[in-house]
Amino acid sequence: MKNRLLSMLKDDTHIELPDPGRRRLLQASGVGLAGLAAGGSLLKSEPAKAVNTSARIVIVGGGAAGISVANRLSQNLSGAQITIIERREQHIYQPGLTLVATGIWRQGKVLDRNERYMPRGINWIRGMVTEFDPDANRVVTDTGQVVDYDYLMVTTGLKVDFDAIEGMSTDLIGREGIGCVYDNSDHASRTWQAIDRFATEGGVGLFTRPAGGIKCAGAPLKVCMLTEDLMQRRGTRDRGQFYYPTVGTSLFSQPDMNDFLKEEFPSRGIQVQWNHKMVGIEPERKRATFETPEGQVRLDYDFIHVVPEMRAPDALGNSPLAWQEGPFADDGNWMEVDRYTMRHPRYPNVFGAGDCVGTPIGKTAASVKAQVPVAVENMIQAIQQREMTASYDGYTSCPLITARGRGILVEFDYALNMVPSFPFISPYREHWVPWVMKDRMLHAAYNAMMRGRI
Ligand SMILES: Cc1cc2nc3c(=O)[nH]c(=O)nc-3n(C[C@H](O)[C@H](O)[C@H](O)COP(=O)(O)OP(=O)(O)OC[C@H]3O[C@@H](n4cnc5c(N)ncnc54)[C@H](O)[C@@H]3O)c2cc1C
Repeated sequence: MKNRLLSMLKDDTHIELPDPGRRRLLQASGVGLAGLAAGGSLLKSEPAKAVNTSARIVIVGGGAAGISVANRLSQNLSGAQITIIERREQHIYQPGLTLVATGIWRQGKVLDRNERYMPRGINWIRGMVTEFDPDANRVVTDTGQVVDYDYLMVTTGLKVDFDAIEGMSTDLIGREGIGCVYDNSDHASRTWQAIDRFATEGGVGLFTRPAGGIKCAGAPLKVCMLTEDLMQRRGTRDRGQFYYPTVGTSLFSQPDMNDFLKEEFPSRGIQVQWNHKMVGIEPERKRATFETPEGQVRLDYDFIHVVPEMRAPDALGNSPLAWQEGPFADDGNWMEVDRYTMRHPRYPNVFGAGDCVGTPIGKTAASVKAQVPVAVENMIQAIQQREMTASYDGYTSCPLITARGRGILVEFDYALNMVPSFPFISPYREHWVPWVMKDRMLHAAYNAMMRGRI
């Protein structure tokens, strides 16, 4: 049964969704879980089909959220002028990057072309927005194009702030024992070269975690545990010392998962170093600097997984659309939205979704899956001058891979309550199903989400 389901889901190019059972499985696999478990999905309260409008809608950013928005708007509106602004031709399936960085997937498996997912009939401007001017209802691109809109959807994702670490630059990744799974597939692939070497030769491994909101908060944990597991498998574990220097005194925001990890890490010989914020690196000396309550400390390493702080892209973070005060302003200049409606509270014709928004939970593809139908549905209701009814409850999910072949499917909401989609998989202990989802099913579900199918 398992094999049959997996082979059905292997390649999204073969996905058709006529069979309700299969459709439910796609919805239920990883990023699709929100459609079943969380409120506010288009599946639950779908707006009237093909609403007639001549509204000019601009989507800024064509990643997971932007393309998903474009497809949903195209499917639900008739006559709208929809424009998407995105420079990249390449699409990266980012949830696969942890598997590339740990040698489980080859790099090519996470690469795709945006063109394959863009709906017909929309205007795709190849460029980057350099200026948001919501008072004038327009954006300006890096090629000087001024684009006016009636409604704006912001889906720019985030910026990985490598400059926040003194001495760090992306060309170091893969050299001098430095890895970083974030930002693109080359980084993940070069990280694998460094991890492969460390897993054979051993030494001191530092796996860092920065302050503030980061995309997929489980990724730094997964890279650490999968590397530890790799050394167990290779029979080299006794050559490696594992340290996890992290900001603050918790490993995960969801309390049950935090408790699990606080037992799991020591039981696997991974020593957590609390209140350690990485601020510098000296690659030639293989030494990293951390700020701690006791002052700066320098730690030597043979391998280091560097995770810089993350923030809204500059054009967005420096614009009036960003939070002007409070934790989401201080923590990364994130875009201001009402956490339930995904609408900007000061600019009612502006909505946001994905990694760029400042909400207490999110920054996963699973959050994108839950947020996009809400943002789209509310935008369509705003276009119709109707009351907004869709609401995002903070749903996010992470198949927290603890070793090759097992993991925990963590799903929770704004209240940090676990909201498991599968009654037969405990969200409190390791199981093979989350691994199979991550390895085989999530990618297909993600692609279906981008096409606006789930
Ligand atoms: C290592 C790693 C592991 C992950 N694992 C998981 C997982 O297991 N499960 C899960 O659910 N999620 C996971 N995620 C998170 C998930 O991939 C992201 O949350 C999701 O891709 C966010 O989608 P987005 O559209 O907001 O941002 P992105 O997909 O990053 O897209 C943003 C787009 O906006 C464009 N852009 C930026 N600025 C501008 C501008 N000024 N003008 C125009 N365009 C702009 C960019 O070029 C980019 O294409 C992981 C991410 C990483 C990096």
